[in-house]
Amino acid sequence: MSHIADRIISDVGLESGVAALTTEKIEKVVTRMLKGETGAKLRAYKETCMRCGLCSQGCHYYMSHDADPSYSPVNKATETMYELMDKKGKVSPQRIYEMAQMAYTECNLCKRCAHYCPIGIDTGYIMSQVRRICYLLDVVPQYIRDTAHSHASTMNQMWVKDDEWIDSLQWQEDEARDEFPDLRIPLDKEGADIYYSVIAPEPKFRTQLIYQAAAIMNAAGVDWTMPSHPGWDNSDMCMFVGDYENMGRLKRAHYESAQKLRVKRIVMGECGHAFRSVYDMGNRWLGHKAMPVPVIHAIDFYWELINEGKIKITHQYENPVTIQDPCNIIRGRGLMDKLRDVVHFLCKEVVEMTPNREHNYCCCAGGGVINCGPPFKNTRMTGNRVKAEQLKATGVHDVVIPCHNCHGGIEDIIGYYDLKMHGKFISDIIYELMEKPEV
Ligand code: SF4
Ligand code: SF4
Ligand code: SF4
Repeated sequence: MSHIADRIISDVGLESGVAALTTEKIEKVVTRMLKGETGAKLRAYKETCMRCGLCSQGCHYYMSHDADPSYSPVNKATETMYELMDKKGKVSPQRIYEMAQMAYTECNLCKRCAHYCPIGIDTGYIMSQVRRICYLLDVVPQYIRDTAHSHASTMNQMWVKDDEWIDSLQWQEDEARDEFPDLRIPLDKEGADIYYSVIAPEPKFRTQLIYQAAAIMNAAGVDWTMPSHPGWDNSDMCMFVGDYENMGRLKRAHYESAQKLRVKRIVMGECGHAFRSVYDMGNRWLGHKAMPVPVIHAIDFYWELINEGKIKITHQYENPVTIQDPCNIIRGRGLMDKLRDVVHFLCKEVVEMTPNREHNYCCCAGGGVINCGPPFKNTRMTGNRVKAEQLKATGVHDVVIPCHNCHGGIEDIIGYYDLKMHGKFISDIIYELMEKPEV
């Protein structure tokens, strides 16, 4: 069995955070967090865990490292949260470094292991609470810390300025009007049926997704709008850092920007973690029993448009495709059947990965791991050999991936394992196949 201490990776955020720690501070923060936030649930998990190891087969890190027990979910919980509880926070700063590396970079919070535990222990939740402690100790990988700071300062994760956001939308509207002369990206339209929100990487470096969404809304005759003001970024890396105060600020800003426009529903673009932040963690932190404005994922939205006959395609996609089931949308929210309805409508041949649906392996990017940046890229690549094998076994070239993080993770795996495959968003395929006006 390997040990986390033998695979420490240098990261300036973790190093500078640990350098400023004292054992007294660690003890104080751990005690305060366990007493004030979530101690009872964690104690129930710790006391009921039978150390049976059945969760091990749930974890892609464990399977990809030839069943090394160090990567087993129960070991991750034992070496981090359970140790902090047993020792009442009396651990060294170096031990906090090891725990932070394990929690931020060797667990995607994907919750697959919870399905394999006979009593449903959710190691993803336990590791998220280890991150919460590390955040309160200011021991956070530098890249994701910077992203969270961007959220806190600008209300979006990419330091996009307010005027750049509006410029990007107008630029995409302008571009798209060459192809669709009547197209508009309506800003701040009060009372619209749909408020469309995206994650900040879209205006920053994936603007074609905004173009495509606008083309689809336009062709389907949707009454929609996008906000000109902060709140437009639905992503939430603060959730994965453990900065719940800013996670709450972000979610409130997102809802309030929609409420201000009195829209009927929010449709989120193709992202998994952003969706989790509204249906799960952000909502609970804010104490919402129900969403203040109904929110649906793009899969749901495209499914509705297809069923209402509002998406018209000229032909089906010819190449065989396979489907990535993003954990936050499928395991977390149950959209597996709707995803298949949409993909089968668009594509001639679908070759399923094995396993699939709620049993699918995470892409290893999620839970903020890809956002921990280049120092930890190899951790993701070696930690997800099983995903590469699963992808390769389909024998197809195209992977339909309705999640931004999965895109990043799977494209990296494709490159690292030389799979010669390519990822596509649903909107890439709809845009490619949809009827377009003759201009
Ligand atoms: S990566 Fe997923 S399966 Fe592995 S421990 Fe974390 S939540 Fe469980
Ligand atoms: S399967 Fe559940 S009970 Fe068994 S070791 Fe894993 S977390 Fe503990
Ligand atoms: S990036 Fe995709 S597969 Fe990975 S945790 Fe997120 S939703 Fe799951």
